[in-house]
Amino acid sequence: MVSRRIVRDTGYIDEEEILNSLKQAKTASKAQSLDIVEKSKSFAGLSPDELAVLLMNNDPEVRDAVFEAAHSVKERIYGSRMVFFAPLYASNTCVNNCLYCSFRKDNKDIVRKVLTEEEIENETKNILNQGHKRILVVVGENPRLAGIDYIEKAVAAIYRTRSGKASIRRVNVNCAPLSAEEFRRLKAAKIGTYQIFQETYYRETYRQMHPSGPKRFYNWRIEAADRAMDAGLENVGIGPLFGLFDWKFELMATLMHAEHLDSKFGIGPHSISISRLEPESNAPAAENPPFTLTCEDMKRIAALLRLAVPYTEIILPTRESPELRNQLYDLGVSQTSAGGGYAKAHHPETEQFPTGDTRSLAEMTRRMCHEGCIPSFCTACYRSKRTSGRFMKLAKHGDIHKMCEPDALLSFKEYLIDYADQATRVEGEKTIAERLEMLEPTIKERIRTLLAEVESGKRDVYV
Ligand code: SAM
Ligand code: SF4
Repeated sequence: MVSRRIVRDTGYIDEEEILNSLKQAKTASKAQSLDIVEKSKSFAGLSPDELAVLLMNNDPEVRDAVFEAAHSVKERIYGSRMVFFAPLYASNTCVNNCLYCSFRKDNKDIVRKVLTEEEIENETKNILNQGHKRILVVVGENPRLAGIDYIEKAVAAIYRTRSGKASIRRVNVNCAPLSAEEFRRLKAAKIGTYQIFQETYYRETYRQMHPSGPKRFYNWRIEAADRAMDAGLENVGIGPLFGLFDWKFELMATLMHAEHLDSKFGIGPHSISISRLEPESNAPAAENPPFTLTCEDMKRIAALLRLAVPYTEIILPTRESPELRNQLYDLGVSQTSAGGGYAKAHHPETEQFPTGDTRSLAEMTRRMCHEGCIPSFCTACYRSKRTSGRFMKLAKHGDIHKMCEPDALLSFKEYLIDYADQATRVEGEKTIAERLEMLEPTIKERIRTLLAEVESGKRDVYV
């Protein structure tokens, strides 16, 4: 049994208990597994022991039941909207040596670059011109060249950039762990979400993967989410980098990390990313991943996470193939990056990864319409202070979709008018008309009126 106590010397994650729980779960019957799936449909989440049972059961009937339940939980909580964001790699200088990343200090084969404010503004204009309203700034760890002073300036540069009347409405940040004081500065810079991946929750692998630099300190990293939340940054994103260690262990540990934050702050992680280790040059662990994951494993990860932590946003990065991405959207993913290529076009040396999905944002929105999703550029929760606690309360009760779907329609309408080509606009308007009809009668007329306001030129409209 996984106990609920906090184990001080190994952080919040008790490795032995996770491994034991997975071992014991092998004896659970198919009927027990199906009962757990049934229970999860009421958005209660899964305990680590329940998750272990579903992880260890390979019966196709259980697998299908998990997929079906994950789809319905996602629809019920978030509706069928898919939020888009654009990553912006601001700096690739790094003092660490992570064996899986090409930004690592010992990689002498890349050109190091810290974008100037002017370059960041140009990059932001490109991203704006594609129709995005959210940016995730990604920064390698270099306190001297790209520390908190730099990150503050980068965030400010993005917020002040205009392309016509358009501007970025939410800047999220993925950077190395900061001190409490630095997190307070990040909060003052008005960022949306702070994102920090533990990479692997298994300490021995963590030690091997991070041979030098400040990132070698496991506790400093795992406690970054706590420091950020203590500093008032309540929207925190976490996640492992799948492929460094056994994915089943990582999923169990991710759930325990989420439970820790939820019990300490009353707010769980705003998002969990499901990144998979991708090939990288001069990054030995990426060239030869210690653990390989199949597409089927990725589907189980998305679905089980949706059942285990139903209220959290699940984020899928750009790097997966279009086919797999489409399947993962169905199983629980609620946010994704899109429109890869802009950073590469302007700063080839700064973009870190080859993208498996090179579809343009317009192509992706059309595809989503086909698949029954509403592409969303919404930032309403953040702007109407429906963040953190309030957002999570609504999400936990399965009520957030009542805002998400209408707001998705309004933001999509804005995108179609301002950025879409004719074919995308036709496809998109059809989706909006269909989804409008599916809204509850009490809200339908109001949204029809708000859509008309967007049509007549009003912007940033939300319920
Ligand atoms: N330096 C900061 C840090 O490590 O937290 C942020 C920048 S780092 C580039 C952002 C994330 O990229 C890492 O947390 C890691 O999960 C991911 N990453 C690094 N190498 C990767 C690879 N080969 N494949 C997929 N993701 C990778
Ligand atoms: Fe640096 Fe982050 Fe890459 Fe590690 S993952 S080498 S810390 S940029």
